Amino acid sequence: MAVKPLVAGNWKMNGTKASVAEFVAIADGVSPALADAVEVAVCPPATLVAALATLGRLPVGGQDCHADASGAHTGDVAAEQLKDAGATYVIVGHSERRADHGETDAVVAAKARAARRAGLVAIVCVGETRAEREAGRTLDVVGTQLAGSLPDGVEPTNTVVAYEPVWAIGTGLTPTVADVAEVHAFVRARLVERFGAAGAGVRILYGGSVKPSNARELMAVPEVNGALVGGASLKAADFLGIVAAYA
Ligand code: PEP
Repeated sequence: MAVKPLVAGNWKMNGTKASVAEFVAIADGVSPALADAVEVAVCPPATLVAALATLGRLPVGGQDCHADASGAHTGDVAAEQLKDAGATYVIVGHSERRADHGETDAVVAAKARAARRAGLVAIVCVGETRAEREAGRTLDVVGTQLAGSLPDGVEPTNTVVAYEPVWAIGTGLTPTVADVAEVHAFVRARLVERFGAAGAGVRILYGGSVKPSNARELMAVPEVNGALVGGASLKAADFLGIVAAYA
């Protein structure tokens, strides 16, 4: 099934009001022809979601949401609040959230359900650690995370999956093209097995040290439907260099 790829930037805990100019520079670099070929989105810190979304230039996403719609959860952000701020997407289950906040697959699934309830598209992250890869457990781990982190009722319009090997995030290391192909084919098979035709249309992003110099090669791998980009999404020139893989 032909799906429109998505390249989403994850700014993590970086950016202030001054970063609005960087977002505008990214948007300015996405020509109409490029926008036909690839969807480009930015997930800034929660403090900037409204400021970027209000500009109406590119889809914007949150980096996390609480499972509840409101309530006594100091410091958390509800999916409904992100939606209200103008978000389209929300990343859930990023490995930094899983590691820093002890988020389990069940927690991630509850957040993905919350995203859907609020009308957001959940970008659900999965990926193995270095030790798990070295132990030959990559597909086991990714399969378990997919089974536990994806709620029922996944459709291309409510869910994106991001395969992000933990050891590749922010390290400059990437899996081989063959390894990316193997995991993405596995993820696709699991999606189709569980969700039928809907699973064939869900976008599967690769994330982990994507940069302009490796984007074309990685984006050409079968079943890679775009990228989730951390560090290289902070500067418009780098991010646009990655998006250019679809030019
Ligand atoms: C990420 O944090 O989702 C990510 C892929 O980071 P980086 O591109 O910096 O490896």
